[in-house]
Amino acid sequence: MEKICIIHINFNFSGTNVNNILELLKNEVAQIEYDRYIKHLIYDEKNSKNNKLVFIAPNTLAQNWVKNRYSSKIKEICELNYSLDVDIEIILKGQEKIKKNTPEKQKPQLHSLLNPSHTFDNFIVGGSNQFAYAAIKSISEKPGVLYNPVFIYGGVGLGKTHLMQAAGNVLQNRGKVVIYTTVEQFLNDFIRNVRNKSMEKFQEKYRKCDVLLIDDIQFLSNKETIQEEFFHTFETLKGDGKQIILTADKHPKKIAGLEKRLQSRFEHGLVADIQPPELETKIAIIKNKCELNKVKLSSDIINYIATVIESNVREIEGILSKLHAYSKLMNVDITLEFTKNVLRDQLNENKINLTLDSITQNVAKDLNIKSSEIKSKSRSKNIVYARRIAIYLCRELTQTTMPQLAQYFNLKDHTAISHTIKKIQELLKDDEDFKVKIDELTNKITSAV
Ligand code: ADP
Ligand code: MG
Repeated sequence: MEKICIIHINFNFSGTNVNNILELLKNEVAQIEYDRYIKHLIYDEKNSKNNKLVFIAPNTLAQNWVKNRYSSKIKEICELNYSLDVDIEIILKGQEKIKKNTPEKQKPQLHSLLNPSHTFDNFIVGGSNQFAYAAIKSISEKPGVLYNPVFIYGGVGLGKTHLMQAAGNVLQNRGKVVIYTTVEQFLNDFIRNVRNKSMEKFQEKYRKCDVLLIDDIQFLSNKETIQEEFFHTFETLKGDGKQIILTADKHPKKIAGLEKRLQSRFEHGLVADIQPPELETKIAIIKNKCELNKVKLSSDIINYIATVIESNVREIEGILSKLHAYSKLMNVDITLEFTKNVLRDQLNENKINLTLDSITQNVAKDLNIKSSEIKSKSRSKNIVYARRIAIYLCRELTQTTMPQLAQYFNLKDHTAISHTIKKIQELLKDDEDFKVKIDELTNKITSAV
C-alpha cells in the first residue's frame, strides 16, 4: 500500500534552490534520518507555483515524519538563507486529486460513520477492560433493557471508541438506526440547525434513533445550551427504551461544569472504567494487531514494544505501522535493533517526562519501602536491592549521567553506579523472574507518565 505524498511549502523556488535547501538540511539532521526520509523527497516542480514548493515523499510515514520533524527546520533554512517566511503544508498525492475534483461546498457531515473494523472480535479483553467489555457486549445483545446509559470512561487510546462502536456495528447489522457522534459534532449539528431554523429536524434525528453513541462527553463541560438540548434528547430516548452509550476521559462526577441532573443520570446507568492495559494485555494486543496488519515480529520485539510503550494502544498501532513501513521502504527485516532505532524518538519523549524522583518513588512503593530509604546509606538487604533497581531504572529511563546519579543516590562516585548497573544486567541475563519484575516496573513507571 505504497502511497506517494506531496509536501507543499509556500514560496517561489527553482529546482537548484530546493536541492540546496535539502543539502543544508542534511547538515542539521542525523545521517540515518537523512537517508531514511530526506533523501527520498523529490521536488515536484510542476505542482510548485507561486509561493508554493512541492516535494514528493514515498509514503504517508515519510510525509508525517518530515512534516512533524523537519518542517520547522526547512522553515528556518528558508528564512536564514532566502529571507523568506514560509508556510508548510503536507498532503497526499491521492488526496490532492480528490481535493481538485471535489466541489468547493461539501455537504456538511452530520455525524461520523461507524468504523467497521471496530468489532468485538478485534478487541482484546484483559483485566484492564473486561468490565467495560462485558457491559457493552451485554447491551449489544439486549439494547435499552439492561443498563441505560452505559458510561465508559478512561484515558486516551484505551479503546473507549472502539468498544462503543463495536456495539454500534452489531446493532446496525441487526437493522437498528444507530447514530455515532462526538459532542463536538453534536454541537455543530445543533448550531447549524438553530441557524437554519430547523430544530425539529435535529430533534427528529437524535430523538428518533434506536441507539445513540456519544463520544467524549467531557466536552459538554460548561456548555449550558448544548447540555440543555442533550438533556432532552437523553430523556426522550431513555423514556422510549432506546439505548444510549457515552464515553468520557473521566468519571461523570469528575467532569467539571456538567449539570447535576446530567451527572446523576449518567451515574444512574452503568459506569465502567477502562484502565491502562497490563503487560500481558498489551502483548496480546500487539500480537492481534500484527495479525490484522500482516506484520511478523519475534516475541523479543513484541515484549520490547509492550514494555516501552506506555498505555496508549493508538501509540502501539502507530509504532507497528512505522516498523512495517520502514522495513518495506528500506527493504530490511524487522530486528530488535531495528525496532530500538525506530522507537528511539518515542523513548526520548517518554524519558523527558520521567524524573529521578518519580522512578525512585515508584520502585520504593512497589517494594514496600520509603523512597528516603533508597537514598539513605542503609545496607539492609531489601533496601540495597531496591536501591540497585532504582539506579538501574534511572539510568535506563532517563538521560542522567553516572556522576549525576551518584550524587542523587548519595554515593561516593560514578564507579558505584556502573558497578550496580553491571550487577543488574547480569541478573537480568540469568534470572527470568527478575527480568519480568523489571519489565513490569518499567511498564508501571512509563505508564504513569
Ligand atoms: P479511546 O477512544 O479510548 O481514545 P480508541 O477506541 O480510539 O481509544 O482506541 C485507539 C486504538 O487502539 C484503536 O485503533 C483501537 O482499535 C485500538 N485498541 C484500543 N484498545 C484495544 C484493545 N483492547 N484491543 C484491540 N485494539 C484496541
Ligand atoms: Mg475515543
